[in-house]
Amino acid sequence: MREIKAATIRRKGGPFQIETLSLDEPRPDEVLVRVVAAGMCHTDMVARDQLYDVPLPIVLGHEGSGVVEQVGGGVKKVTVGDHVVLTYMWCGHCKPCLRGDLTYCENFYALNFGGTREDGSTATRDAGGPIHDHFFGQSSFGTFALIHERNVIKVPKDAPLELLGPLGCGIQTGAGAVMNALKVNPGSSFAAFGGGAVGLSAVMAARVAGAAIIIAVDVVPSRLALAMELGATHTVNSRETDPVEAVREITGGGADFTLESSGRPAVLRQAIDALAIRGTCGIVGAPALGTEASFDVNGVMTTGKRIIGIIEGDGKPDLFIPALVALYTQGRFPFDKLVKFYTLEQINQAAEDSEKGGTIKPIIRLESQVEP
Ligand SMILES: [Zn+2]
Ligand SMILES: [Zn+2]
Repeated sequence: MREIKAATIRRKGGPFQIETLSLDEPRPDEVLVRVVAAGMCHTDMVARDQLYDVPLPIVLGHEGSGVVEQVGGGVKKVTVGDHVVLTYMWCGHCKPCLRGDLTYCENFYALNFGGTREDGSTATRDAGGPIHDHFFGQSSFGTFALIHERNVIKVPKDAPLELLGPLGCGIQTGAGAVMNALKVNPGSSFAAFGGGAVGLSAVMAARVAGAAIIIAVDVVPSRLALAMELGATHTVNSRETDPVEAVREITGGGADFTLESSGRPAVLRQAIDALAIRGTCGIVGAPALGTEASFDVNGVMTTGKRIIGIIEGDGKPDLFIPALVALYTQGRFPFDKLVKFYTLEQINQAAEDSEKGGTIKPIIRLESQVEP
């Protein structure tokens, strides 16, 4: 058992509270990671605000990066001192997992939002009793995290570790949607509806994929300017211009691929309407559970359009995260331009800056919090 410092959520809406908690020793299949930094993602706010049913009190955080401190006796994937990125959890034994469709694991919700290990246990407690953890199999808003070896991804030591956590969720989601799910091809046209961390990662990935036309659609001028720096060839401010007409005009009839990351049904409709004949729209934006959206049935049928849901970018994290690190190191995937660093004590400020749109991807540094 060891003492850790972590940010807990004790009631709906927060705030994050910095507390000293106890963390168990690793089980045979677990890895203890000294967390160096953890990105903050929209899903942390969804859990804080209870838009998804997540048990409280809980330690959130699901874009951790760190150094392996200790391994259980059965762990083969990593050793002490390895640099790792922590990603989402999958069960490994359901039909989708056996097919390799890890992000569509039948147990995905329980394992990532259930606040416990798969067997229902927790590893974290305070003087009053157990605290929920294992959020996305990691709960990385703490100085240490205990993780199953499955969702611990080894990364090269020459990459800046404090930057890499967001590759475990938000960045992997946008980049993977383009590269693995939509399979945007060289010479094609792509439009990102929504210019947050996911949408801008998609823009960078579309450039890597060789798309000839890359359009960013958002309402915040600074995000549109950043999109141009990251590889967009055109931007559309949808507060000033009808984005469907604009995308059709730029592409000469419609985009081959669109991606909806705002979570708004009206924007999803635009992303479908802006498609070319035989185009594909990917959905990655999460509205509240139960939200419905509408589209013109004949408009989709007679043009052969496809609409697909995408979770976490459809990748295999053990392969895809190191690939994104390599692209970053080569200067081809500059996701550091999305990032602003905060201390653990500034975590509520990070959440506020992200919700107001001033910070695209906050990263909470934890290393300075480690006790000597
Ligand atoms: Zn599964
Ligand atoms: Zn996330």
